[in-house]
Amino acid sequence: MIIQKINAREVKDSRNEPTICVSVVTSNGLFETSTPSGKSVGKNEAKPFSRKGLKFSIDFAKVLGKKLFQEKIKFENFGDLKKLEELIRRFDKSKDWKEVGGNTVFAIEASILKALAYENNQELYKFLLGKNKLILPKPLGNCIGGGKHLSSKQKYKPDIQEFLLLPETKHFFDSYFINLQAHKKVKSILLQKDKEWRGFMTDENAYSPTLTNEKILNILVELRGLIKSQFGVNLKLGLDVASSSFYSGGFYHYNNFSEKTRQRKMTNVEQIYYILDLIERYRLFYVEDPLYEESFSDYKMLMEELRKKSPNILICGDDLICTQVDRIKKAIQEKAINSVIIKPNQNGSLLETKKVVDLALKNKIVPVMSHRSGETLDTTISHLAVGWGIPIIKTGITGKERLAKLKELLRIEKSFKS
Ligand code: PGA
Ligand code: ZN
Repeated sequence: MIIQKINAREVKDSRNEPTICVSVVTSNGLFETSTPSGKSVGKNEAKPFSRKGLKFSIDFAKVLGKKLFQEKIKFENFGDLKKLEELIRRFDKSKDWKEVGGNTVFAIEASILKALAYENNQELYKFLLGKNKLILPKPLGNCIGGGKHLSSKQKYKPDIQEFLLLPETKHFFDSYFINLQAHKKVKSILLQKDKEWRGFMTDENAYSPTLTNEKILNILVELRGLIKSQFGVNLKLGLDVASSSFYSGGFYHYNNFSEKTRQRKMTNVEQIYYILDLIERYRLFYVEDPLYEESFSDYKMLMEELRKKSPNILICGDDLICTQVDRIKKAIQEKAINSVIIKPNQNGSLLETKKVVDLALKNKIVPVMSHRSGETLDTTISHLAVGWGIPIIKTGITGKERLAKLKELLRIEKSFKS
């Protein structure tokens, strides 16, 4: 397959912020990818756009298209993305793609894969899956949140960025349905219990009440009971603490810790024991970024403590790993985590992103494909999750950008069954 041209333009994401949309043109037509962006961004992530701005990234993609055509570079399989990356590396040798932008690289690569899948008469997920077994990921849904994902002015908000739900069901459709029901029920409970809340929601369509973290967890325990009695489904609870967003000067700074003492400052060790206590008291199954992004040794200590009593709880690294190969290798060596967030645009390169996934799977670390807080209608991550055998996908529960990804998975499940 030869690429004839690359088009690129600016589009707006769900936060109404500009991002890049790329289309790759082949003799079969046009294959498009638009990119997300984060707000609670890890220090070690790729830069989304060129340091010279989005316009530069757009122009670069177009010029690259011309070069690919001139040099008649042939693409036949996933591994051929290496040819593209070698060409891009002539212009950008930086680890974080600061010259051309990680989102630019991701969008071009994803579009090439879509074109290749079409050339092979397959859907993207099937093209990536090859002969491997098809398993639908379980949806981990963001239901309540705060932190950097609430920009509206509200006196108090949850310090913890995301309160997450994962219904334990056999089929994707059932989990999707339960998350929607749970999201609806939570709203009515919050309206009853939080008279201060003006209905604000986070960037990911999660409710953002004024309640303390533990009051919210108590509500979610109530919700778990309601879902169990109404649908007979076990609703598992998780958190994305995104703790780097409130870590500074050697302390974790809570602003809505309890009604008596809103502010609370914790040392590294106090934070570890606080997380262990939350896991135990609320029977959490998943905690993402409980500790700040450079604290591999604190993670190791948390995992050691956890291994003694609840070895099955997932401790997931997002800002800690930033979908980087060197960082997942370090985490494996230090036994720092047993789960890892996969955000392709944190890396830019899909070859490298796939390496992170494979290293995780090989070392019994559960990969979790994830949306970003600024999203588009693009559904690439749904296909990557299925195609790469990723068992969990984290998205919001409502909102057209999140539903697009979930509905793509529903469609894949349906076509697989029929
Ligand atoms: P981001 O947050 O997309 O704003 O980085 C999502 C997350 O922390 O998981
Ligand atoms: Zn996160």
